[in-house]
Amino acid sequence: MSICPTGAITMRPDEEGFLYPVVDGEKCISCDLCEKRCPVGAVHEAHAVQTMGAQHKNTQVREHSSSGGIFSALAHDVLAQGGVVFGAAFDDHLHVEHVGAMDASEVAGMRGSKYVQSDATEAIRNAAALCSRGIPVLFSGTPCQIDGLLAKVRGKEREKLLTVDFVCHGVPSPGVFASYLAELERKHGQRVTAYAFRDKRLGWKNFSAVATLEDGSEVTGTQTDEPFLYGFLQNLYLRPACGQCTQLRGNRHPADITLADLWGAQQICPQRDDDTGLSLVMINTPKGQHAIRRVKQQLTTFSVKTDKLLRFNPGIEETAKMHPKREAFFRGYARHGFEADRVMKLLAPPGTVERIAKRIAHLPAGALRRVRAVLSK
Ligand SMILES: Cc1cc2nc3c(=O)[nH]c(=O)nc-3n(C[C@H](O)[C@H](O)[C@H](O)COP(=O)(O)OP(=O)(O)OC[C@H]3O[C@@H](n4cnc5c(N)ncnc54)[C@H](O)[C@@H]3O)c2cc1C
Repeated sequence: MSICPTGAITMRPDEEGFLYPVVDGEKCISCDLCEKRCPVGAVHEAHAVQTMGAQHKNTQVREHSSSGGIFSALAHDVLAQGGVVFGAAFDDHLHVEHVGAMDASEVAGMRGSKYVQSDATEAIRNAAALCSRGIPVLFSGTPCQIDGLLAKVRGKEREKLLTVDFVCHGVPSPGVFASYLAELERKHGQRVTAYAFRDKRLGWKNFSAVATLEDGSEVTGTQTDEPFLYGFLQNLYLRPACGQCTQLRGNRHPADITLADLWGAQQICPQRDDDTGLSLVMINTPKGQHAIRRVKQQLTTFSVKTDKLLRFNPGIEETAKMHPKREAFFRGYARHGFEADRVMKLLAPPGTVERIAKRIAHLPAGALRRVRAVLSK
């Protein structure tokens, strides 16, 4: 959408609630730029990666960041250079979109992971315009958003652009999240005014989701009983393309710096783990290295052995596998929207009867006949 010179492309939600590009044939001049620059299907070269563990020294920054708060350190440095920071933030209706920040209070809204696909189309266009004027820009987003940005910002225009992505589990549907919030509002008879996907009051490792209602009360849940969070972690409503994202992983990330949770910290670096959040920092380019050097004073950094990382954070290399009940979820969603009870039932581990039925169904034909004969006695 952002590369089209005639504005012929708009993004529209499909029946699963994800945005997809739609081309207006009347405005299209058949320049084919959208296809030529499309990052989908592109093969990414592997590159050298320098890896370290890190944590922001400021406890308040860590408290509101999903892992160690490294994004905030980089953002404040770019602001200090007179630059603009782009990242994902909630609007007043809790819709997640990428916006530009020119001061620290705006950056605060970008802190923390939002487990829903952020609409970055306008932000990519605005960031590209600033890059062409030589203004420092930090753009933080999913690996595919960074790939899209880099398809538009090329050559010399990239000089003052710093990109940050993360190890990405995949992104859930914005339509599904909006429907979940609407269900919460109906149930509690009041608006949801804020939502945190990674509240750290129970700790960094045992994070929980917290919805704040209009009267200030909170609806909270953990990774296995908060329906939206649970469905996200079980890949029930990720974007289909996330299941095919094999390129933008490992040592092929397109951004200058890749951030992740330093999962396994209890085993990898127990002396560093205070359960307030630790980041794994993967430096992919000399520009990324320079940026980390500039913010080092704000951070505690330490080396990590890379051999155990994949065991505790397989998403560094592995692509998300869609939940087997994804289709069933979306069939119900089309009729009734998000229904927390139905989601919890879909995600419940198979019961004893179902387990036995499944085992019987997989028996060879001869064994199956014998089981039938025993049962019919
Ligand atoms: C959808 C999603 C999936 C993730 N999956 C994994 C994973 O599988 N394994 C892992 O180790 N880490 C994952 N992370 C990254 C991790 O949780 C931290 O965000 C990352 O380590 C940076 O943490 P921080 O403390 O430095 O900064 P934070 O303040 O936590 O990071 C905020 C940054 O994340 C960006 N961001 C937040 N939500 C979105 C969004 N929806 N779309 C695009 N950008 C967004 C913001 O723009 C901001 O720049 C994921 C993050 C997201 C958003």
